[in-house]
Amino acid sequence: MPKFSAASATRSLCLALLLNASPASAQPARFVVPSIPANARWYKGNTHTHTTNSDGDTPPEQVARWYKTHGYDFLVLSDHNVFTDPVTLASLTDSSFLLLPGEEVTTSYQKAAVHVNALAITRVIPAPKDSTLLGTIQKSVDAIRAEHAIPHINHPNFLWSIDSATLFRVRNDKLFEIHSGHPLVHSEGGGGMPSMESVWDGLLSSGKRMYGIAVDDAHNFQGEFSADRSNPGRGWVSIRTTALETRALVAALEDGQFYASSGVTLSDVQVTPRTLSITIKQKGDYKYTTRFYGRDGTLLAIDKSLSPHYTLSGNETYVRAKVTDSGAAAAWVQPVFTTRFVEKP
Ligand SMILES: [Zn+2]
Ligand SMILES: [Zn+2]
Repeated sequence: MPKFSAASATRSLCLALLLNASPASAQPARFVVPSIPANARWYKGNTHTHTTNSDGDTPPEQVARWYKTHGYDFLVLSDHNVFTDPVTLASLTDSSFLLLPGEEVTTSYQKAAVHVNALAITRVIPAPKDSTLLGTIQKSVDAIRAEHAIPHINHPNFLWSIDSATLFRVRNDKLFEIHSGHPLVHSEGGGGMPSMESVWDGLLSSGKRMYGIAVDDAHNFQGEFSADRSNPGRGWVSIRTTALETRALVAALEDGQFYASSGVTLSDVQVTPRTLSITIKQKGDYKYTTRFYGRDGTLLAIDKSLSPHYTLSGNETYVRAKVTDSGAAAAWVQPVFTTRFVEKP
């Protein structure tokens, strides 16, 4: 029988601590399950559209009417540095159609375009200037937050203006455009410049909690609708919340309770501690493919059913999904974060 000593007792204790050591990173990843009210439903809307109050070709009333008659529940008229007040269009709004007050706060730094949408404003927010690109973006975001409004950073690849390292350093912004109906904003990247989706995965993998939205950025409602014009109906979000009301919508948007779309409709998104499940609303005889992505944009799984799902293997920090249809439209399910996600301040 070994002789008892203080040293051996200490060794035993250390060994026991090592064996029982269970830091959070050693536990298999579990989804952080959002709490969804039972009476929540999906509201379709576009958060980025122009009128003749800035550089759009159609007056606000006609623009709003286009969306109302095309199945949208809400719309943001986001003119450049102009507040198109929904109060002036009250005859168009009712219990099934909301005009959410907004503005595209539009400024620049050298040749870079810095456009940040402000949702839920009550008055025009002046566009700031700064001596750096990051400062120009941050001042825009801060000016919007100071009004208790919600910022979303628009089209970072427009004029190749905002790189991912700069995006990463912006504080207090949770939303940015990953898809746009505007033909000149280069969401897909190319020629060595990253797509918005790869930028998104980079930000998420670096610990930045960002949600990706799809918008029209529509300017052209007159004349021919063609690929080289910024026509409506090409990008939207569907937000899950309890009421068609401004504060409820923007709170759910900033909480990631939505999906972005260029044409694919989802009936449901459900999260349990281990599984992300999606229900696709089939259009005609369209076929669908769902890809689940994780850290560094790694393709985790492909599911070709109408009810795709992904079960955690245990190492993931986040999982997001992209559903594409046989007509090349897509829906982007927002990232669901796990217990292994370490958020960078
Ligand atoms: Zn813009
Ligand atoms: Zn715009």
